[in-house]
Amino acid sequence: MQRVHNFSAGPATLPLDVLQQARDELLDWNGSGMSVMEMSHRGRHFMTIAAQAEQDLRELLAIPAGYKVLFLQGGAHTQFAMIPLNLLRGRASADYLDTGDWSLKAIAEARRLGGVQVVASSAASHYTTLPDPADWQCDPAAAYFHYTSNETIRGVEFHQIPLPAHADTPLVADMSSNILARPVDVSHFGLIYAGAQKNIGPAGLTLVIVREDLIGQARAGTPTMLDYATFAGSDSMYNTPPTYAWYLAGLVFQWLRRQGGLAAMAVRNQRKSEKLYAAIDDSGGFYRCPVAVSCRSWMNVTFTLADAALEPVFLQQAEAAGLSGLKGHRLVGGMRASLYNAMPEAGVDALIGFMSEFGRSHG
Ligand SMILES: *Cc1c(COP(=O)(O)O)cnc(C)c1O
Repeated sequence: MQRVHNFSAGPATLPLDVLQQARDELLDWNGSGMSVMEMSHRGRHFMTIAAQAEQDLRELLAIPAGYKVLFLQGGAHTQFAMIPLNLLRGRASADYLDTGDWSLKAIAEARRLGGVQVVASSAASHYTTLPDPADWQCDPAAAYFHYTSNETIRGVEFHQIPLPAHADTPLVADMSSNILARPVDVSHFGLIYAGAQKNIGPAGLTLVIVREDLIGQARAGTPTMLDYATFAGSDSMYNTPPTYAWYLAGLVFQWLRRQGGLAAMAVRNQRKSEKLYAAIDDSGGFYRCPVAVSCRSWMNVTFTLADAALEPVFLQQAEAAGLSGLKGHRLVGGMRASLYNAMPEAGVDALIGFMSEFGRSHG
């Protein structure tokens, strides 16, 4: 067996401990005589797995009472539609921050379903900065305020929660690529959502954490499967949930608790990303990160080579050195190293070593 260091943005690397546990339990989960994949979602074994996963997540994020945790399907893309369908609540429009490719997709989908006001945009900097809160044009009557906490494609992250100017406006965050990377005060939010395949578990599961008073007000005509109330009232088991992905997410939550929880992950994630940014910044211009220092992501480190013609060579030699998934998103090119929770520090060290060697032989 030969495992590489996998820097893919998603689906992404998972903790080796978790994969080994899943392997050990694959054919017979806990004496049940069957695989988790083969169990009824309504049977007692899966009920135990599901409840434990929710409880571990609640402890990790210190989710206060008054919030539902929903285990859904459809990815973050389905949330782009479910949020306006459920949260507009008869209001004319919602406020959105435009900080990159994912917020633009959320904005485009919301526009199909209601009014959208773009409060501020960092398009002018090619999304290498974040808009200054002093310039945001927030609507006091907005149904909610939506932002993307980490822009996975360009590697731009909010290091502070951008609280809306009007305290009553529910705050909604797409945390697909940085949920569980650090502690966050959930009580500031109306709704948090995340596709699982970056920092939670395998693809096929979508997590939604939503304040209970925002549930049950979906617009008339909302399909049953797009109404949060459907899942809030059925422990996310209105129809067959993605049981195996839910189970694996639960193993990841337990692994995170064993690592010391989110405060410990934050220390590790900051250290991992800062050493990689330092290697880029100290390369004498051989490598360059386009993102402003104050909003560089801990999760997705983007960089280019001064000589763009060397990029395919870099990628090919990196792959040969067991460093996989470093090609940047097709929209922006360059390189991207995704350093989610499951990326060990040794993987980052190996990448830095490779980059320095590559710089020496091609500089
Ligand atoms: C990957 C990603 C998405 C899209 O997720 P899907 O689960 O594929 O729909 C949305 N937002 C962010 C920030 C992402 O990183």
